[in-house]
Amino acid sequence: MGEKVKKIIYPGTFDPIHNGHIDIAIRASKLFDSLEFVVAKNSEKMPLFSVQKRIKMIEESIKDINNIKVSSFGGLVVDHAVKIEASAIIRGLRHVSDFEFEFQMAMMNFHLNKNITSIFMMPDEKYIHLNSSVVKDVSKNGGDISDFVPKCVKKELFIKYSK
Ligand code: ADP
Repeated sequence: MGEKVKKIIYPGTFDPIHNGHIDIAIRASKLFDSLEFVVAKNSEKMPLFSVQKRIKMIEESIKDINNIKVSSFGGLVVDHAVKIEASAIIRGLRHVSDFEFEFQMAMMNFHLNKNITSIFMMPDEKYIHLNSSVVKDVSKNGGDISDFVPKCVKKELFIKYSK
C-alpha cells in the first residue's frame, strides 16, 4: 500500500490575496504533499470581492505551483478539512495581536476534531505588517501596491476602485 498523501488546508477570507498569504502558502506547500487554499464563503468581513473572484485571483497567483489548489467552503473549517482529506490547517501569525484569536480558534478546532492539527507560520519580515485591508486602502487612495500583491490583484483592485 502507498503512503497516505499529506494535505494541508489554508483557510481565510483572502479579500484579496496578497504576498504575505502567498509566502506562507509556498513555504507550507513544501512541507506537505499538497496545499489547498479554501476561501470562506460566509466571512463576516463584508468582502469587497465575490468568492468566485477571490478564487480566480488566487488561482492566477499560484498557477506555476503544481501542488497548490484553490476551493471555497462554508461551515466549519475542520469539517471541510475532513471532506477534502486534509490532516492539518495552516494559519499565519504576524503579531502578538493575531495570537489570541488564532489560539482560541485552534483550541476550538482541536475540540471539534482531534485529528486535524493547526500549524502556524510567521511570514517573511517584509510582509509582517501586510494585510488585505491595508492593501485595499492604499489602492483605493491611488498608492502603489506593486510590492505587496500579484499583478492580477493590482489590476482587479484598480478596476474595482475606478468604477
Ligand atoms: P482572515 O482569515 O482572518 O479573515 P485573511 O484571509 O487575510 O484573514 O488571512 C488568512 C490567514 O492568512 C490568516 O491566518 C492570517 O493570519 C494569515 N495572514 C494574513 N496576512 C498575513 C501576512 N501578511 N503574513 C502572514 N500571514 C498572513
